[in-house]
Amino acid sequence: MNCLFCAIVAGDIPADKVAESQNVLAFNDINPQAPVHILIIPKSHHENVGELSVADPNCLTELFTLANQLALEKGLTGYRTVFNTGVDGGQTVFHAHLHLIGGRAMHWPPG
Ligand code: AMP
Ligand code: ZN
Repeated sequence: MNCLFCAIVAGDIPADKVAESQNVLAFNDINPQAPVHILIIPKSHHENVGELSVADPNCLTELFTLANQLALEKGLTGYRTVFNTGVDGGQTVFHAHLHLIGGRAMHWPPG
């Protein structure tokens, strides 16, 4: 399978890693949309959050737990967590990933 984020998990492609827990890896987004923009991914491959939630709900919790921990460590006063799903949802990498975005005021509604 040709998956960019599986290659990052395997160490075949470098990433700017910021944290890791048992089933989850966090690294800085290569094209940050805010002062803090971290991607938090399951180490195992799931195409999107819907598939992950069925296959491994505990891992979904682990993603959000690490997101909140990183937000606290970085002193964020607020943050946004986003899963884009499907092409029309803005998903470009088809390995589930949670965006942790913060360090500036967020706009609502998002585009
Ligand atoms: P999405 O559009 O929700 O699928 O998000 C994919 C994200 O992956 C985008 O924000 C990209 O900037 C980011 N991205 C793509 N390639 C890399 C990479 N090699 N290292 C880190 N982030 C990446
Ligand atoms: Zn993958």
